[in-house]
Amino acid sequence: MSEISRMLERIEKDKVKFIRLQFSDIQGQIKNVAIPAMQAEKALTQGISFDGSSIEGFARIEESDMLLKPDHTTYAVLPWRPEESRVARFICDVYRPDGTPFEGDPRYILKKTLAEAAEMGYTFNTGPELEFFLFKMINGKPSIEFQDQGGYFDLAPTDLAENVRRDIILALTEMGFEIEASHHEVAESQHEIDFKYGDALKTADNVVTFRFATKTIALLNNLHATFMAKPVYGINGSGMHVNCSLFKDGKNAFFDPDTPNQLSRDSQHFIAGVLNHAKSITRIANPTVNSYKRLVPGYEAPVYIAWSASNRTALIRVPAPRGSSTRIELRSPDPTCNPYLTFASILAAGIEGIKNEIEPPADASKNIFHMTEAERKQAHIDTLPGDLITSNRYLMEDDLICSTFGEHVTGALNSIAEMEWDSYRTTVHPWEVEQYLTRY
Ligand code: ADP
Ligand code: MG
Ligand code: MG
Ligand code: MG
Ligand code: MG
Repeated sequence: MSEISRMLERIEKDKVKFIRLQFSDIQGQIKNVAIPAMQAEKALTQGISFDGSSIEGFARIEESDMLLKPDHTTYAVLPWRPEESRVARFICDVYRPDGTPFEGDPRYILKKTLAEAAEMGYTFNTGPELEFFLFKMINGKPSIEFQDQGGYFDLAPTDLAENVRRDIILALTEMGFEIEASHHEVAESQHEIDFKYGDALKTADNVVTFRFATKTIALLNNLHATFMAKPVYGINGSGMHVNCSLFKDGKNAFFDPDTPNQLSRDSQHFIAGVLNHAKSITRIANPTVNSYKRLVPGYEAPVYIAWSASNRTALIRVPAPRGSSTRIELRSPDPTCNPYLTFASILAAGIEGIKNEIEPPADASKNIFHMTEAERKQAHIDTLPGDLITSNRYLMEDDLICSTFGEHVTGALNSIAEMEWDSYRTTVHPWEVEQYLTRY
């Protein structure tokens, strides 16, 4: 039986009525084209065409006809839909009508970068840790009112938070996730659910699915789940630490039992490459104006460009486990990022480090936040860009990441950053009114 007939049989057996063909725009937001299950065969054999020009940063009017081709491995029934009108989804690749991949599709950019690493024998694994807040819905609208007063690893924050988290985990599990752990985070109403690492394409798909499922389940419980980086001033923001490792010949290429810290040459070069491109990666990993309000001292988020095997204040930490769990943890990304582009930029930077055998700076074993500015200067510890327009400038000057993304994506990222920054820059914010209205 062919792959396609197997898939069609599965769709029928699951009594699926509608199929959502999903893909991501430049900002990593899910877009859908829904088709009745009857159209499944056509979708799986020829693809389904759609108008790409209506999607921000996607296609120009004159090249608007695009084709969605479902990736069979991403089939999942949406567990929260009733059985009588069951809905399944596929994550799709975007093609031009002539059958060539569309270079504005972030999933394609990641696939291309993974293929380049594969030519050198590497597979790239990522384990993203998503944090989010659950806020109250008030009069049918999302608010920033806390739903609970729990703290880090609290056992029973409130019954509701526990129940919602359990519902989210059940839904994700039904959609094929292997959940490793979940806990209440440091801030009130803040949570983290961790799933098992895997191939970066699969985990990027997982990030997108995670956000969409979490928001849906929260809403069914009359709560608003937000992945905004810093929704409330004065408390921790939400991060999406990205644990990364390369495997070669089925073995973890970051592990070397014969070095003093059991880290391989590859891992050192990879770290050096990522540190070299840290400023431009920030544009991708921290893509909103608000993202930069998380990247400030005092809230467990990184600020300084350094790595460490022991302390959590560095941009890159090397968690203690070794063997197949040997990994580096990039701590700057936040969950508003486009995971496809974020993983592609980390991989491209790391691979460049390996190709050029770049050496990382010394391990910053001291708490970098406790160092004086002079001490940091002496240790050559630079800082991450402080706002979106600055990180965007670094990206535009970064030949490696720009060529990884290609002209289409780079150009779209540039105009999105400029528009967002301009709108923010010219808006009068409540802070300004509070500071100046009566003083002047
Ligand atoms: P933390 O101590 O930073 O809170 P967590 O336990 O919350 O870490 O998350 C660790 C993440 O790292 C998990 O998603 C896990 O699957 C992932 N991970 C484990 N081994 C690897 C590896 N070899 N490569 C990439 N990610 C890994
Ligand atoms: Mg964690
Ligand atoms: Mg943990
Ligand atoms: Mg956490
Ligand atoms: Mg972590």
